Amino acid sequence: MRALRILHLYPDRMSIYGDIGNIICLQKRMQWHGLQTEYIANTVNEKLQGKFDLIFMGGGQDRGQIPVGNDLQTKKMLIKDHIESGVPALTVCGGYQLFGKYFLTKDSGKIEGISVFDVVTKATEVRMIGNVVCVNDEFGTIVGFENHSGATTLGEDAQPLARVTQGSGNDGTSGFEGIIYKNAIGTYLHGPLLPKNPMLTDFLITQSIQKIDSNFELKKIDDDIAMQANAFAQKLPR
Ligand code: GLN
Repeated sequence: MRALRILHLYPDRMSIYGDIGNIICLQKRMQWHGLQTEYIANTVNEKLQGKFDLIFMGGGQDRGQIPVGNDLQTKKMLIKDHIESGVPALTVCGGYQLFGKYFLTKDSGKIEGISVFDVVTKATEVRMIGNVVCVNDEFGTIVGFENHSGATTLGEDAQPLARVTQGSGNDGTSGFEGIIYKNAIGTYLHGPLLPKNPMLTDFLITQSIQKIDSNFELKKIDDDIAMQANAFAQKLPR
């Protein structure tokens, strides 16, 4: 099988609270499953073309999201085509916000998103910060760390990623965290997210190989240490 092409959007501008660990985790776990990987980084003012098997984008500060938001508009169609055709994606916090319709900041105006996700985000006076525990029926208990002032509202038919049991999640009031649309996930959870939530990593990997070899079976990986970390994180104070 050919190498899986992982697209990392704006690694130099959108990577905080360990987001890069998601890339390391994906690459390592793909190798454990016997898959080869190819890493492609793309940032502001760089041409983006070709086909990718998985897309990742991390978080960033409001001000830093302005040039990124502008640049994303030039890549909107390519990214949307990928997502619509089922390519998996993971977007964290600032990346999640910019994959939505828009982010209305407090000091930096309105940043247009690329409307992959049916969500809008508005800055609030509250900083939602701390450890998060949330539950998804398929993936189980998801743990991570959030730090955002933007509150994200899902559109009527949008499907949240999980129900929050500790923390704020999307907006601190709805009880929802993140979104899942087709095979794309938007989430506020840093940490990094994937090492402590291997079921999410395997979901992304499974989807990334669908078009190449839908019969490929992932190996059984011993997740004892990862799940110990997950269980430990569930007991951390907010
Ligand atoms: N700047 C955004 C907010 O505060 C995103 C922060 C982040 O990516 N952690 O809402």
